[in-house]
Amino acid sequence: MAEYDVCVIGGGLLGSAFGWGLVREGQRCVVLDEGDGAIRTARGNFGLVWLQSKGRGMPEYARWTLEATRIWGGFADELKDITGIDLHYAKGGYNIGADEAELAQMVANLNQIQSEMGDDAYDYEVLDQARLKREMPLVGDVAGATYTAHDGHCNPLLLLRAMQQAFQAKGGAYRPNSGVRSVEILPGGGFRILGQNGAELARAAKVVLSAGHGSARLAKDLGIDLPIHPEQGQVLVTEKVAPVMPHPAMSVRQTDNGSFLLGASKKEVDLDTRTDLETLATIAASCIRLFPFLGRLRLQRAWGALRVMTPDGHPVYQQSESHPGLFSFACHSGVTLAACHALHVSKWVIDGTIPDTYSAFHPRRFHV
Ligand SMILES: Cc1cc2nc3c(=O)[nH]c(=O)nc-3n(C[C@H](O)[C@H](O)[C@H](O)COP(=O)(O)OP(=O)(O)OC[C@H]3O[C@@H](n4cnc5c(N)ncnc54)[C@H](O)[C@@H]3O)c2cc1C
Repeated sequence: MAEYDVCVIGGGLLGSAFGWGLVREGQRCVVLDEGDGAIRTARGNFGLVWLQSKGRGMPEYARWTLEATRIWGGFADELKDITGIDLHYAKGGYNIGADEAELAQMVANLNQIQSEMGDDAYDYEVLDQARLKREMPLVGDVAGATYTAHDGHCNPLLLLRAMQQAFQAKGGAYRPNSGVRSVEILPGGGFRILGQNGAELARAAKVVLSAGHGSARLAKDLGIDLPIHPEQGQVLVTEKVAPVMPHPAMSVRQTDNGSFLLGASKKEVDLDTRTDLETLATIAASCIRLFPFLGRLRLQRAWGALRVMTPDGHPVYQQSESHPGLFSFACHSGVTLAACHALHVSKWVIDGTIPDTYSAFHPRRFHV
């Protein structure tokens, strides 16, 4: 069996970012991924690289997301240089207030986030209806919007593919159809990773557990506190039309291939990814309220997917105290944070320590 510096369990958005970041730093790394039978949130998300609305009550998360949006462009460019894959990353995003009360609430939230961030606060703009209509002529009769140049969107499926290709181009070992059943702690240090049939898949000095919902059972077996639960989101997809909306409006965005994504609901239904007509109708109605022209487009399909949610919605990053070298990472917003995961978190793994600046992301925050 091959020996590695790091074994990453899970090849979704988090694991692929860590894998890419690790080989980029010269680490010998294997990514083990269960495959199509597993819950794969990376295949069902909305593709926003999003800052505004993130981190109210936790300025560390707002700063972390701001950092992600700052380095996202360079991260995408590097992936394109290596793989030739264009992630169709575009900056600038609107959050639309349908009525005055909603807009006032959004502005109050943003003000709170900025005051909690102190010196790190970022610029945003509040657009009244007239200005919004000039910038987004297709918008309906709404109150206005908030805008930041930090927000944006990309093609998230190409993001996943680009990170996996870059990982392999730099010598990383990507192993699909390699579901992990257990992780053994070796007496002399390091870890032995066993597959579903009990066969050894790899040995590694360090392990990163980042298998999305698949992490819950593995973490429990390893005595790791990983407070995650599924939150279902449903998304609608329209037919393709000529490009008319370069910037996303949070719940509505036009993809690089011309279709519109309309989203996304929030429901606690355990591990159920099925769509239902009532939820889809609610999504369609609220998006048509913002952009009436959407009502004239035909719908192509819809999907349901499961967010990896923590109790406060913010990331959980930790290293096992009893078994140093065993890291477990989970979060929502794996598209947005992909750049931070690849370029920063992978270095924590190499250094063997999570810097104190990020101690706020430890799950001990839930045990006060
Ligand atoms: C509706 C919806 C919209 C979203 N929109 C956005 C958005 O606009 N912007 C944004 O930033 N984020 C968004 N997200 C969140 C984003 O998709 C997730 O943060 C991200 O996919 C989580 O990545 P992950 O790697 O933790 O999990 P996943 O992407 O689910 O990957 C987990 C991987 O682990 C593997 N696995 C599972 N068990 C095992 C095992 N035992 N052994 C080996 N491998 C295993 C699976 O095969 C899978 O590939 C959205 C999510 C949803 C549901």
